[in-house]
Amino acid sequence: MGCQMKTALVTGASRGIGAAITRALAQDGYRVFINYLGSRDKARALARETGGTAIRADVSDYAQVRSMYDEIGELNVLVCNAGISEYGLFSETTPERWRKTFSVNIDGIYHCIRCALPAMLARKSGAIITLSSVWGIHGASCEAAYSASKAAVIGLSRALAKELGPSGIRVNCIAPGVIETDMLAGFSPRDRERLCRDTPLCRLGKPEEVAALAAFLASDKAEFITGQVFGVDGGFAL
Ligand code: NAP
Repeated sequence: MGCQMKTALVTGASRGIGAAITRALAQDGYRVFINYLGSRDKARALARETGGTAIRADVSDYAQVRSMYDEIGELNVLVCNAGISEYGLFSETTPERWRKTFSVNIDGIYHCIRCALPAMLARKSGAIITLSSVWGIHGASCEAAYSASKAAVIGLSRALAKELGPSGIRVNCIAPGVIETDMLAGFSPRDRERLCRDTPLCRLGKPEEVAALAAFLASDKAEFITGQVFGVDGGFAL
C-alpha cells in the first residue's frame, strides 16, 4: 500500500458505537468504510462527515460480505462491531431467534475476518478488533443467546490472536458494559437506573469511550498488544 492512506472497515457503523469508532479512526487519518444494513441515510451522512465510504452488506450473509470486500480491497484495520441483542426467557427463545443472533454476532465476524485475511497475510500486518460484551464474560439473565454469542466472540478472538500473531496480525476484543445507544431502547427508566446503580462509576457509558480504546488498539501504539479482552464498563464487571 506504500504511503497511501490507511484503510479501515467498521461493521455496523451507521449508529451507536460503530459510528463513534468511525469518527475516531477518521480523526486518526484512516479512510473508513462504513458498513451498514438498514440505516442508509445515517451511513451516508457519516461518510460525508468523515470522508469515508458507506457500504451496505448484511454481515450474516457471506456472499454479501464477499461483494463488500470486492469494493473495499485491502484493509489495515477491521473492526467487527455489528451486533444485535435478543431479550427474553431462554425457554421462549425460538430456534430462529437463536440462529439469527448467532448469524449476526458470530458468523458475521467469521465472514468479515475470512475476507480480510488474504491481504493482511500477504502484507504480514493488520489489526482486528472485535466487540464482545460484559455479558459474554458474565452471562445475563434473559439474554442467553446474546451472552453465548458474545462469549463465542471472545473464544474466536483469542484463538485467532494465537494463530495470526506469527503473521503480524493482532486481534483484540472489547467487552463494553452498558453504553448509551439504540441497543438500550428496550430498557425502561427503572432498568436504566438499576444498571447505573450496578455500575461502580454510577452512570452509563458513551460510545466515544469505547471508540477511544478501539482507536488505540488499531494504532501502532498497541503494537505489542494482542489476544486481550478489554472492559469499557465503568467497573460493571467487578
Ligand atoms: P446499535 O446502536 O443497536 O447499532 C447496531 C449497528 O449494527 C447498526 O449500525 C446496525 O446497522 C448494525 N447491524 C445490525 N445487524 C447488522 C447486520 N446483519 N449487518 C450489518 N450491520 C448490522 O448497537 P451498539 O449499541 O452500537 O452496539 C455495537 C456493538 O457493541 C454490538 O456488537 C453490541 O453487541 C456491542 N455492545 C453494545 C453494548 C451497549 O450497551 N450498547 C454493550 C456491550 C456490547 P443498521 O442500523 O444500518 O441496520
